[in-house]
Amino acid sequence: MTDLAKIASFKQDLASSKHVVFLTGAGISTHSGIPDYRSKSGIYNGVSEPPEIILSEDTLYGRPELFHNFVMKNMYFPQALPNKIHEKIAQICNEKGDLITQNIDRLDKKAGNEHVLEFHGNLYDIYCTKCQKKVDYQAYEKDYRHENCDGIIRPGIVLYGEAINPETLTKSVEIMRKSDLVVIAGTSFVVYPFAQLLAYRNPAAKIWLINKTSIPATGISEIIGDALEVFDRL
Ligand SMILES: [Zn+2]
Repeated sequence: MTDLAKIASFKQDLASSKHVVFLTGAGISTHSGIPDYRSKSGIYNGVSEPPEIILSEDTLYGRPELFHNFVMKNMYFPQALPNKIHEKIAQICNEKGDLITQNIDRLDKKAGNEHVLEFHGNLYDIYCTKCQKKVDYQAYEKDYRHENCDGIIRPGIVLYGEAINPETLTKSVEIMRKSDLVVIAGTSFVVYPFAQLLAYRNPAAKIWLINKTSIPATGISEIIGDALEVFDRL
């Protein structure tokens, strides 16, 4: 099939499905100017230490200045706006679906999506690790120490070595089971346990992959290319 024929077939499956689940990653937000974690132009490239070390609890508490500098310089893009992919996914989810995203940039919520599960948390749910109070981005940008109690402030994202919130896992599995269409988009699907979600799908569900590269799984219809071009045609 040509890509156009595949897009038509994908469109048809979207139209006939009762409940869609989207599984997305960094490739959705690169079009909003947020760099992909692991691509060549990604934020982890050229960094002196591996992300598994920097984005860990050890660094957060042991070298808080390094942690703070790293996330401020490389991960926060508060001016970024949702693009057409976020908008299209929001439209479909608000009608009959759910999104489970690895992205921590809040752009899906900014796009008006009311059915977003942020698998790895959210950069803007910021809190003090000592007194647990919420802290706004502007305060965190200025200082990683909480002015009230001198505790270390952190973003509400899942760091390397930390577990996924159990409620998020349970809800993700429920969504996978009830969906008759799974759309994987903008992710190389290599990060666990996110990639394991596919194992919980409804056995009758159709699966589409819209991504720059293929993923190691069978029974998937693929459109290999830029997700923006595909979602633009829906
Ligand atoms: Zn505090």
